[in-house]
Amino acid sequence: MSRSSLILKLMYKLRGNEWGQCISIAGGCLVLFVLYNVFMRDVDELFLALGRSKFRSRFRLKERDAEYYKEKGLEVILEHGREFITQRLGQAKPINDGKQTPIRNHPFFVAQHATGTCCRRCLEKWHGIKKGVELSEGQIDYIISVIKRWLTEQDVGL
Ligand SMILES: [Zn+2]
Repeated sequence: MSRSSLILKLMYKLRGNEWGQCISIAGGCLVLFVLYNVFMRDVDELFLALGRSKFRSRFRLKERDAEYYKEKGLEVILEHGREFITQRLGQAKPINDGKQTPIRNHPFFVAQHATGTCCRRCLEKWHGIKKGVELSEGQIDYIISVIKRWLTEQDVGL
């Protein structure tokens, strides 16, 4: 049973009479709505927003990047990427923040610009990851997962 239907059931139990039931149904819907917005507003919506941004949606893999991507494979690219993220964005106050991610020369860099994961300001703006605080492992995993999706969606003839 899902968490939300469990909450609904619980609210039913707490309030026996008819009005109580109406109130608990409304309350349950509200809880569902809030849960959806807080936890389920997932990467789909993010990618829609990125697609609407003229600047972000302009980024594409150039032939050289695509070749490199095909040659190394997604997992290796993401391994490099984890190092880039840790070294260039991981600290609370990264050196050269805003200019630490080159625009070309690695598919991961291109993907970072395309997904708003290029610097701490963009991470805060696009992903709600507060700047001025060291990135957690979980946040780094999340960033990698966003970039993985972008790279997977690129047509490089794999
Ligand atoms: Zn940026």
